[in-house]
Amino acid sequence: MKLKAYFHRGYAAQIGKHIMPIRKFGLVAEALSTAADIEMIEPDPVSDEDLLRVHTVRYIHAVSNGEPRELAEMQKFPWTDTLYPSVLLTNGGCLAAARTALGEGVSAALVSGFHHACADHGEGFCTFNGLVITADALIDGGEAKRVAVLDMDLHYGNGTAQLAVSRPHLFALSIYGNDYWNNVAYRDVSFRHHLDGANHRSYSLPASCNGSTMISIMDEALPALRDFRPDLVLYQAGADPYYEDPYSPLDLDHDDLLARDRHVFSFAKSNGIPIAWVLAGGYTEDTSKVVRVHTNTFKAWREVFR
Ligand SMILES: [Zn+2]
Repeated sequence: MKLKAYFHRGYAAQIGKHIMPIRKFGLVAEALSTAADIEMIEPDPVSDEDLLRVHTVRYIHAVSNGEPRELAEMQKFPWTDTLYPSVLLTNGGCLAAARTALGEGVSAALVSGFHHACADHGEGFCTFNGLVITADALIDGGEAKRVAVLDMDLHYGNGTAQLAVSRPHLFALSIYGNDYWNNVAYRDVSFRHHLDGANHRSYSLPASCNGSTMISIMDEALPALRDFRPDLVLYQAGADPYYEDPYSPLDLDHDDLLARDRHVFSFAKSNGIPIAWVLAGGYTEDTSKVVRVHTNTFKAWREVFR
């Protein structure tokens, strides 16, 4: 069976020249277009009902209408009327991949999970939290009982953790190398700005962390996720831990991130947990290196699941 991967040209809102390379989703899709074992599918947008389970009416209105502008732009994108439809499609890609993974074991969406987005505002290039929107939609529809997020973007997943507090059906695990907090793009992990809870845990990767240290920290962290007995794992396979990324203090190259993805897929496979992955962040100036991290995740999928 081919791997179903969800992509839509409408994912990319018009944000002008920006450190977030929004065209990378299209570039990854293009790089995968000749792969005979991958089927690209256009997702449907999420519904108002899907958004309202997670986000406040005031915030949803701000993103759809651009008013108040300060709230509509808190995620640090200039607001245009392309923003709202693009985010509905992006969140829809995450939800579609999750549903496919529940049925077929594994799937992907060429989107960000938007882990910094909170209930009443966006942060850090994240508008609506697609990970939690997906989890809540699956729970509400009776498609899953428990959903886990394994967040290996460089940045701490603060939005997902805050949303997890009131959601016992959700387990959020963030393994991060940059203690993102409150729209500040870089904070050293030696000071922790957040508290963990029963269903939201975090593990920091120290500055200059290499591949073997990363794998040992993953091995320390993953049993808690397994013990939650999720029906599905949503995996944020971020490209920003890469050593050349402007936000990354880590020493992880392409091989290390490929090993990370292989390790995650082997964990999911050996525990029989369906997995859907998303691309998450990546800001290395040479975008081809960001694309390579993401296409390598597909390589890891082949190695583990084919
Ligand atoms: Zn990030």
